Amino acid sequence: MKPTHITILIAALLISSSPIASAAAASPEELRGLVTRRVEAEYPSLFAIYTNLHAHPELSFMEIKTAALVARELRTLGFTVTEKVGNTGVVGVLTNGIGPTVLVRADMDGLPIKENSGVAYASTDIVKDLSGKDQPAMHGCAHDTHVTGLIGTARTLVALKAQWAGTLVLVAQPAEEIVAGARAMLADGLYTRFPKPDFAIALHTHSMLPAGVIGYGEGPFLASGNSMDILVRGVSGHGSAPHTTKDPIVLASEIVLALQTIVSRELKPGTPAVVTVGTIHGGLKRNIISDEVRLELTLRTFDDKVMTQIVAAIRRICAGIAQAAGLPEDRLPVVTLTPESVGVTSNDPALARRLSGRFIEWFGSERTQRTEPIMGSEDFSEFSRQGVPICMWWVGATDPVKIAESERTGVPVPSNHSATFAPVPEPTLKTCVTSMTAAVLELLSKP
Ligand SMILES: [Zn+2]
Ligand SMILES: [Zn+2]
Repeated sequence: MKPTHITILIAALLISSSPIASAAAASPEELRGLVTRRVEAEYPSLFAIYTNLHAHPELSFMEIKTAALVARELRTLGFTVTEKVGNTGVVGVLTNGIGPTVLVRADMDGLPIKENSGVAYASTDIVKDLSGKDQPAMHGCAHDTHVTGLIGTARTLVALKAQWAGTLVLVAQPAEEIVAGARAMLADGLYTRFPKPDFAIALHTHSMLPAGVIGYGEGPFLASGNSMDILVRGVSGHGSAPHTTKDPIVLASEIVLALQTIVSRELKPGTPAVVTVGTIHGGLKRNIISDEVRLELTLRTFDDKVMTQIVAAIRRICAGIAQAAGLPEDRLPVVTLTPESVGVTSNDPALARRLSGRFIEWFGSERTQRTEPIMGSEDFSEFSRQGVPICMWWVGATDPVKIAESERTGVPVPSNHSATFAPVPEPTLKTCVTSMTAAVLELLSKP
């Protein structure tokens, strides 16, 4: 949604006439009050931005309108804005005196899902994906809350400029869902063309936590994810004459089941790891034995050595099953690790401790929970390159009543990436803005 001139004018007046801008550093309590009031004042406009983003998601590396919105908002606030960093990425830099550099990252992309959340502003859009194919689109991972949070944080921090010192680098990142956007932005000079951060921080909305609750952790926070393709090759023939063929559908079926023994039989019990075969495609017609089947896998761990062990086991199982079926060496399965892979997101312990301490102070211990690492993956891990300490935290997004009901009935609430998932806007959006603002104020506090 485009801000009206009146909105911009009011915002400008509020910023310029605010006594906060020229006041001396506020006490922690005063600061909390200032931020809370500011976030309350911004909320109607942020809600409008959010519902508009939610209704019109864009897919990975196609975030053109979303990027333009972020660029426009940051420019209005006085940031130096560079667009098209790493394809559709946006970088906004604001230097406010001498101090450390903090990078705040929000990812922008939606998912090719037909939304079925039932909210009034649900997406019905059909959009082009990167390959030009029409797809339904949905903010199923709630990156729209992250973009709204980034804009809200920018507005709040600009209004409270007298309360911090340093350089703020706000990043709207494309293509997280294909774990390619962070790499693209870094390859396009994010750490060389712009001030290199002393800290990089991000939040992610979480469907399993009650709305308004912060989840934090030190060390491994999200798993590494490797993507793998397996091409199972056979020898084709008539469906009625299997003895003249090598059936790749039977082979692929055996492989899928055998792969499930890696975690259960080969890894030390208690080792967190996942081997999922997400797609299986093969065959042309019921009476044809085809000559190939394609599998797509996702692999998750918290340990590079475990990942190496899993990959080796997959290669061994694929070759072994094909050999047992009598396939010649030149028709063994082809196992390929794809570039859609990413390392462990590990929160710098000192940084995580500093931020979680601040969150407990701001939100109270009942709204700040330590959470277990999860097997999801994130390309925010890429921002830890060159020794940059990173920290990500969760912001709960589901109605607490529904969470309590789910605990009672055992029926899970819709997860991120579900067609039926939609965050409760309030207090989720306010918590996104407030926690991100609190984190930046902690890292850029005046001495
Ligand atoms: Zn996602
Ligand atoms: Zn996500």
